[in-house]
Amino acid sequence: MTDIQPIFPQLTDRQSLVIAGPCSAETREQVLDTARQLAQYGIKVFRAGIWKPRTKPGGFEGVGSEGLEWMREVREETGMLLATEVANRHHVEEALKAGIDVLWIGARTTANPFAVQEIADTLAEHGANVPVMVKNPVNPDLELWIGAMQRIYNAGIHRIGAIHRGFSSYGKHLYRNMPEWHIPVELRLRYPSLPIVCDPSHIGGKRELIAPLSQQAMDMGFNGLIVESHCSPDSAWSDAAQQITPEILNFILGTLVVRDSKQTTESLQLLRQHIDGIDNELLEVLSKRMGISRQIGQYKREHRMSAVQAGRYNDIMRSRIKLGEEMGMGAEFLRTLFLAIHDESVRQQIEVINDRKPID
Ligand code: PEP
Ligand code: MN
Repeated sequence: MTDIQPIFPQLTDRQSLVIAGPCSAETREQVLDTARQLAQYGIKVFRAGIWKPRTKPGGFEGVGSEGLEWMREVREETGMLLATEVANRHHVEEALKAGIDVLWIGARTTANPFAVQEIADTLAEHGANVPVMVKNPVNPDLELWIGAMQRIYNAGIHRIGAIHRGFSSYGKHLYRNMPEWHIPVELRLRYPSLPIVCDPSHIGGKRELIAPLSQQAMDMGFNGLIVESHCSPDSAWSDAAQQITPEILNFILGTLVVRDSKQTTESLQLLRQHIDGIDNELLEVLSKRMGISRQIGQYKREHRMSAVQAGRYNDIMRSRIKLGEEMGMGAEFLRTLFLAIHDESVRQQIEVINDRKPID
């Protein structure tokens, strides 16, 4: 991907900063009402899902091609550019026929190379020149994300962009999809000219997270935002908890501080953010290790064993230092690091064995 072109050459950077619209097109009235309000607040690109990928069957799966007609009305009336999600050959053909201005590939589709290739082949067969934005795959796999964009690029689409919408994980968390900011940051370092847009709606999963996530994206030099906005969010047929009214969206945009992304220190800033992401991973891995130590503590408690067993300690030190040295780190650093990890591990085990905090 050596010749990436701007997605919206007809818009200024400011105008193309925000893509907004409902999760799904539901009715003609809902589409037009939402679009009119967004246009009134100066939004230039309107999004709406026509075909919806739902986790389980039986839910609202989108209105289908009929909704494309409502979108065309939006363009006629407001002049906004139109964006929708495509996941297969039929969607691409329908969207091209309706003259949709920007296609995006959803997170579940990006994870499936067969589906992405089918989309790429359809675009190539039609000689399409429509810009395509590729959401990250549901799993935190940067190569799969890049691979999907390469398939589209190789189909002759050079107006290409990435959408960061967070990554699935098991269990309940603050975020609906974990941001793992270091992944889009690494993408930026690999492809500096690739526009990256943040989707705070699907990362956060709730309204109150849209403002802080949007600001964070701006601070990290993202090129834009794609935000779900609905004229009546509480009654939305999909993703109700994360949609906001056009009025609230306008308020949030008014509070955003957009920094000059062309500062010379930008690369340095990105590298620092990369480090921050890796530090967070380090902490998570350490905490996982401590959790296992506590399970061992429980076992030792039940079998009346002591917390420290010298043989095991010596083995750990020897093997970890050897491995770490092979990876280019100094023996002294590795000794200090593993001593500290081991000390904390023992402290946690003693806490479990004695069912109380150890005496310092
Ligand atoms: C959407 O944008 O409405 C959508 C379905 O998003 P994602 O593919 O990120 O889940
Ligand atoms: Mn949605």
